[in-house]
Amino acid sequence: MKICSFGELLLDVTPYGISDKGYPVSEFNPGGAPANVAVALSKLGLESSFIGQVGDDFFGHFLKSVLDENKVDTQGLKLNPNFPTSLAIVSLTDKGERSFSFYRKNGADVMVDFNSDFQLKIDEADAFHCGSVSLSDDPARTATMDILKYSRQKEKQISFDVNLRVLLWNDLSIAKRLIEEALDYVDILKVSEEELAFIRPNLKEEEALHSLMKDHPLKVILVTYGEKGSAVYTNEHWIHVPSFKVKAIDTTGAGDAFFGAFLAGIYGLSQTMDHLSVQELKTLLYRANACGAIATLKKGAIGSLPELSELEAFLKEHS
Ligand code: ADP
Repeated sequence: MKICSFGELLLDVTPYGISDKGYPVSEFNPGGAPANVAVALSKLGLESSFIGQVGDDFFGHFLKSVLDENKVDTQGLKLNPNFPTSLAIVSLTDKGERSFSFYRKNGADVMVDFNSDFQLKIDEADAFHCGSVSLSDDPARTATMDILKYSRQKEKQISFDVNLRVLLWNDLSIAKRLIEEALDYVDILKVSEEELAFIRPNLKEEEALHSLMKDHPLKVILVTYGEKGSAVYTNEHWIHVPSFKVKAIDTTGAGDAFFGAFLAGIYGLSQTMDHLSVQELKTLLYRANACGAIATLKKGAIGSLPELSELEAFLKEHS
């Protein structure tokens, strides 16, 4: 099973203490949700490729090297000398919760077009993954919709993380409209509980999930609740699984670790997604929750995503 991820690959500039002069110190953490998912999949043993664009600059080369080191196929990653690699500045609360500000006007991930190299990588894959950040501005917005259409036409399994970054949108009603459009191509959707309330306001959770299933050809919806765990909703089941108790240091990447693990699990099952049993869904969520919890134990995203052996050791320790 090979999965191709598309979207932003950028630097998360993360707090790293205070200098001896009293100034904040930052660490350059490789990030970008779809890139994190690509690494999560690869670390869990799946074949994973990433398509997108970074600048042909120090940061862009650094990001490419990180994906390469993590055995993500970067043949479809374009290094463009005309645009800079984007930055996301991360601030952390005392509890390790993140907030973001972005430096990505004319950033390489925004100035991306659907090209023949991307097409080739989608053709090679069995599944495609992306999220809503690349929908925030053109030309990436058009590229994302075109790639989704192409992937559907080529009968790939499609996963989508709503991953709403409010700061990236001047008008949230446009975000909502574009997410709805994208969902017409999606099989497996992930939303946080806040994002679910955003795309289906004024509805109880089950009604909101039912409404999404009715309006779009979705097969599986995942809902994440941070330290309260997660849920999976299908046409047949609605299952909640609590999270693992851990001392979270930085939740950056927890959602990507979670989604990567769920995808790795579901794509590892031989049958179609239509009739997953309660036990199968519970096991998928349990392992995904474990990967989400492990990702909170270290700072940053990519560096804190677990290998399969780390996941197994964590599960043994917490059984
Ligand atoms: P996102 O908001 O990006 O979807 P979450 O922060 O909800 O992601 O994290 C995804 C999953 O990771 C959660 O559903 C949970 O299983 C796990 N997780 C996240 N934060 C914690 C935490 N503080 N303690 C334990 N598990 C956590």
